[in-house]
Amino acid sequence: MKRTLPVEKNTYIDVIFEDLTHEGAGVAKIEGYPIFVPNGLPGEKALIKVIKVNKGYGFGRLIELYEKSPYRVEISKEELHKYGGCQLEHIRYDGQLKYKENQVRQVLARIGKLEDLVIHPILGMDNPWHYRNKAQVPVGEKDGQLIAGFFKPRSHEIVDTDESLIQIPEINEAVQIVKEICAKLGIRPYDEGAHKGVLRHIMARYGQQTGELMIVLVTRTPDIPHQEQLMEEIITRLPKVKSIIHNINSKRTNVILGEHTKVLWGNEVIYDYIGNVRFAISALSFYQVNPIQTKVLYDKALEYAALTGTESVIDAYCGIGTISLFLAQKARKVFGVELVPEAIEDAKKNAKLNGITNAVFESGAAEIVIPKWYEAGNKADVLVVDPPRKGCDEALLQTIIKMKPKKVVYVSCNPATLARDLRILEDGGYRTVEVQPVDMFPHTGHVECVSQLVLKND
Ligand code: SAH
Repeated sequence: MKRTLPVEKNTYIDVIFEDLTHEGAGVAKIEGYPIFVPNGLPGEKALIKVIKVNKGYGFGRLIELYEKSPYRVEISKEELHKYGGCQLEHIRYDGQLKYKENQVRQVLARIGKLEDLVIHPILGMDNPWHYRNKAQVPVGEKDGQLIAGFFKPRSHEIVDTDESLIQIPEINEAVQIVKEICAKLGIRPYDEGAHKGVLRHIMARYGQQTGELMIVLVTRTPDIPHQEQLMEEIITRLPKVKSIIHNINSKRTNVILGEHTKVLWGNEVIYDYIGNVRFAISALSFYQVNPIQTKVLYDKALEYAALTGTESVIDAYCGIGTISLFLAQKARKVFGVELVPEAIEDAKKNAKLNGITNAVFESGAAEIVIPKWYEAGNKADVLVVDPPRKGCDEALLQTIIKMKPKKVVYVSCNPATLARDLRILEDGGYRTVEVQPVDMFPHTGHVECVSQLVLKND
């Protein structure tokens, strides 16, 4: 028999929001049936209109707020533009932190069934504004004018902005100046619909510790009109620029960067430091976008690894070797593994740049390379994982269980897969001692965690 749903499409109902999704939607439950409502906050009483009903969940629109959450902040439309579509922009920062910490606690209990562990209060930022060291700004045209800003959520419409509240001021300034110069020189913005025009994206990266700025111009065409004048004006007006890069993306695609990259002026890379480790950042390389909180996160990972100098360490999902190079200063040897070969090339270069000789890197899938190392007799004392949102591959977790490193440090950007994987490791003989949530991306729904696990019978 077909189960009837407790709500009907196009009806109006009174609700109290109980929860928040990581996209920032309020969750109301009608007889256990969840309805997701953008802009609703936990604890708020509201009138909603049901706009869609699926079998297991529905969607609604906020019509009237009867009781507001103390964490709600009212922001003007203009200010909203300055957030560039952050999911938690309508929540006060202390509320965001509370919500993220709760999410970690709930998910670890519900999915991980983990109870005997310490979950520390989340480490937020003292100043949660202007933290991002990288911008990728889409360029378009409105009423004959060059505009640049961000895509409206779930759309291809560009909202023109002249300041972002989450970008570092140097990045904001760089984007605005490049935008102005391009408009003045009449460089045609890219028209997505017709696949015509020149300038698709303005990208800027900034080394906060070194004060070095990189500008990347992404164009559809192999040539940039008025290139020389453009370079000259950028260099004059932005004295921190050390590198101007041209990336050509001639495809009809949502992917920002194309295959061809060349240096137009200056160096191929800029440099930055996290702690005492120096990194070379190219236009294409992955680099953490919030250097302040990255330091907080890595210091915790290092503390949880509790190295004395004699250990052999594996860093799985090592990217450009960021965590590996931190660990190498305190370990006998570090083995880093990462799927993307270009990232491994960067990791090797970064090791050299810092005179670190006890870190080796191999490209490949962690779930293939680490079992191979294990078969060959490479057994780590400490193993660090920092996987993407989908978490660790089961084959990797089973190898960890067989390898029995004394400690596992799990860095995670998704509490749900963290909880699932911690459960598997617990069943395989590990105990989760503590979890430290860190807010790496204020005003967005993301939360990062670092966890320490030890072998139970050790
Ligand atoms: N630890 C790094 C990067 C973490 S991001 C840092 O802190 O900077 C996760 C990394 O995992 C990405 O670089 C991604 O390319 C890599 N990755 C994804 N799937 C993988 C797999 N199966 N095996 C190894 N690495 C993988």
